[in-house]
Amino acid sequence: MHSTASPVAPAPVRSALRTLVGAVFLLSAPVPAIASEWASCVKELRTLAIGKGVGAQVFDSALAGVEPDADILKAFDNQPEFTIPIWDYLAGLVDDERVADGRALMEKWAAILAQAEEKFGVDRFVIAAVWGVESDYGRIMGKRQLVRSLTTLSCSGRRQAFFRGELLATLRIVQSGDIPVDALVGSWAGAFGQTQFIPSTYLRLAIDFDGDGRRDIINSVPDALGSTANYLKRAGWVTGQPWGYEVRLPANYAGPTGRRTKQSLAQWSELGIRMADGGALTGTGPAGLLLPSGAKGPAFLVFRNFDAIFAYNAAESYALAIAHLADRLRGAGAFRTPWPTDDPGIGRAERREVQQRLLDRGFDVGAPDGIIGARTRAALRAFQASAGLAQDGRAGLRVLQALRASTSTPAVAPVQK
Ligand code: CA
Repeated sequence: MHSTASPVAPAPVRSALRTLVGAVFLLSAPVPAIASEWASCVKELRTLAIGKGVGAQVFDSALAGVEPDADILKAFDNQPEFTIPIWDYLAGLVDDERVADGRALMEKWAAILAQAEEKFGVDRFVIAAVWGVESDYGRIMGKRQLVRSLTTLSCSGRRQAFFRGELLATLRIVQSGDIPVDALVGSWAGAFGQTQFIPSTYLRLAIDFDGDGRRDIINSVPDALGSTANYLKRAGWVTGQPWGYEVRLPANYAGPTGRRTKQSLAQWSELGIRMADGGALTGTGPAGLLLPSGAKGPAFLVFRNFDAIFAYNAAESYALAIAHLADRLRGAGAFRTPWPTDDPGIGRAERREVQQRLLDRGFDVGAPDGIIGARTRAALRAFQASAGLAQDGRAGLRVLQALRASTSTPAVAPVQK
């Protein structure tokens, strides 16, 4: 379902996809343990690259001393094996911090966003929301050397042909002089920069928006924002149209659903669907009805522009996070219909608080970074067991409240919200 499925897929692989269920594929073979295997693979890649126009010096310089990255296997091992509820996914990506940070940065980069909006016709709030979700506005871009990761994946596993294409694209970026090889760092799957483009996407769609002659989506915010706008435009963004909006379903709704099952607004009206505030449906063009958690949770009518966001990373939960963050940046509040759970998701500030409170109890969860990994989940299960709670290892509101209420806690300063 994600973009590594095909070398010609339009969407970049994103670092955040590791949080998405279903976006996982597994290596079928280990990283070559034997030096001679690695050397012969690199030699093969060299022939391939030179045959495709990569200079021998570029290749030799980029690959000098590069060794297989065994950590990549661990990255695969850390893929979640459980389903992350949509409310947890959205609570982490669209929290008060990301809204506040985004508003401040939109002010700082207002002139560039206005230029991008004018040139590409893409809503500035959506451009900013992509930036916020992809890289936390340029703060989290990944730390892995692209050449090393992509060479490892070019020599191991089931996606070698795809990753060889990405390695060649990386070498072409280096050859172009736009970004030096040492600066090309990103996710284990090769997504890099503030837009988290994979190299082939960079080659197709990154632009030089600050006019310095280089396309630098790592260090240049204008290049990153312009490239995102260019991407969405090429993905079919329709100027002036919304992505969609929350709606209200009639009781016992049993009609069509799904992003792709598009109908006219008149047809949706006939089925009893209204705006979330009860008003008549607005907008133009066909729309699909998205029910991320079934008919009892929030419901959305989504238009063509939702599909454009979806193209960036093929997951509806991802597209909804972007869409909702864009609305929040614009000033909207939470969804009117709550998620169908009695244990809501929590944002990164609360997740850090959960981790801090676990640390205070002696659990080794690493630095409180708000990222709920295997260690935090294990600690949560242990705490839940001791507190008589269901041991799901999930960082939600209920366990946070239990941690706060627990008398064995040393005093901890409340986390700023
Ligand atoms: Ca530039």
